[in-house]
Amino acid sequence: REPQRLAKVLAAAGVASRRGSEEVVFAGRVTVNGQVCKVPQTPVDPLKDSIYVDGKSLPKKLATKMYFALNKPKGYICSSVQEGTRPVLSLLDDYFKIWAQRNPGLPLPRMFTVGRLDVATSGLLLVTNDGDFANKVSHPSSGLTKEYIVTVNEKVTRRQLAAIAGGTMVQGVKCVPMIVESIEMEPDETRQRVKIVVSEGRNHEVRHLVENAGLEVLALKRTRIGGLRLSRKLGLGKFDELTEEQVAKVL
Ligand code: URA
Repeated sequence: REPQRLAKVLAAAGVASRRGSEEVVFAGRVTVNGQVCKVPQTPVDPLKDSIYVDGKSLPKKLATKMYFALNKPKGYICSSVQEGTRPVLSLLDDYFKIWAQRNPGLPLPRMFTVGRLDVATSGLLLVTNDGDFANKVSHPSSGLTKEYIVTVNEKVTRRQLAAIAGGTMVQGVKCVPMIVESIEMEPDETRQRVKIVVSEGRNHEVRHLVENAGLEVLALKRTRIGGLRLSRKLGLGKFDELTEEQVAKVL
């Protein structure tokens, strides 16, 4: 077994994020074999060295990997909370209260979202404590496609569909969707839905694509990530813990 860097060991034990664990070390809250250690890069062996944070030993057992598919409602935010929004992870609070009761002494798994959805976007969002999985899914080289259904304010013309399909610049990069299809509308409907499949996943990409075609986005919902589709049975704000097969389907 290779020695590992202290901050990495703390992060793996669920103390905080990698960066947060460095802060915990800088703050002098960590001892290694009885000595305060303020250097996050210190090589340690989590099995041999005795590591304490705030006077408590590191939890022996690491949290198992967990994966959830969440149907995010509008109004919930994936990054740090701002006025008038709620953190999307708060939707799992009740689940983890029960989890903590069933797993006394174990640290709470440190969950995070895989990528982000805008505050006004709803639909499929993956939540996990598996950093490798999250990186793989989010990394552009994964080539993973994501499907969105956009509701716009008027009947979409062929020219507008072509404009969406032609792509647009987002953060200095040309983004071209893989699929753009209008969804049949009822004769008396004034709104229309459009299916858009993208692979890049840049900030606000789908909104930019649609607005660039002169349309107003009334609603945006993600319905698929890679091979995993948002279940119709999953209500807004609800989540399912994914089976191993479902996790494997994503990538
Ligand atoms: N594209 C957007 O514009 N918004 C999202 O939330 C996701 C993709």
